[in-house]
Amino acid sequence: MKKYIYTLLFAASIVLGACSEDKLDSHSIFNTESPERDAFDTWLLLNYIVPYNIQFNYKYIDKESDNTYNLIPAEYNKCVAMAKLTKYLWIDSYNELLGETFIKTYCPRMIQLIGSKAYNSQGSVVLGTAEGGLKITLYNVNELDVNNPNIDFLNTWFFKTMHHEFAHILHQTKNYSTDFNLISTDYQGPSWLNLESDEVANTMGFVTRYASFSPDEDFVEIISNYITHDAGYWQNVLNNGGALGRIKLEKKFDIVRKYLKDSWSIDIDKLRDIVQRRSGSLSEVDLENL
Ligand SMILES: [Zn+2]
Repeated sequence: MKKYIYTLLFAASIVLGACSEDKLDSHSIFNTESPERDAFDTWLLLNYIVPYNIQFNYKYIDKESDNTYNLIPAEYNKCVAMAKLTKYLWIDSYNELLGETFIKTYCPRMIQLIGSKAYNSQGSVVLGTAEGGLKITLYNVNELDVNNPNIDFLNTWFFKTMHHEFAHILHQTKNYSTDFNLISTDYQGPSWLNLESDEVANTMGFVTRYASFSPDEDFVEIISNYITHDAGYWQNVLNNGGALGRIKLEKKFDIVRKYLKDSWSIDIDKLRDIVQRRSGSLSEVDLENL
């Protein structure tokens, strides 16, 4: 972008400098032709760019990818399926609850697909990354089974990440109550990796191991896990918590529920119902034809 602005400024100074003596060339020095689009590109234009201003990058773009990992581009047919699934399970869930303006206003501006997993040097695998609420990268797209998409796989690899990152955008836009930060006093930071399991995290009052990283991660992990699972899941998390964990989890959830309602008019139970209904009817979505 910097380069682009620089080029524009540079061009402007040439034109200004030329005003006094030379006639302006009527042909623009910028390329004003539309890029060549195939059917998928056109579908993305109509379903992502025009309505939501979201750049859905399915091609491997070097400068948009993290060079610290060994990465493989996502396969074309998996990308088509991912574009359809992301619209159906994520964008349209919020649209159904709140109307289109909400997502249009707050959605990340770029979704980048990567075919392979991204491994850290310690051996942990990255599920997704987000940069300042603007761009979300989803990995492991090539393992998606287009003919028989498994909702647990989809949630683990893509949609928990989408809801997680989107919840970060929300709390970075409107703060949640600082009372939330006082409920747990044993956040683990990078040592979250040492927690044995989510069940152990539950006994400490965290919904997942990663939630123990920091209050912000805790907050968004509750949202993303709550809405990507059914009611039985949350009951199970509370039960796993035992006497101590349960109280913390319930206190945290009360703050999350109130925050979403008061700040965003989001009824988290209604949102979960919508996401769950859509998750159960994936067979209605044509993942192959545009
Ligand atoms: Zn996070």
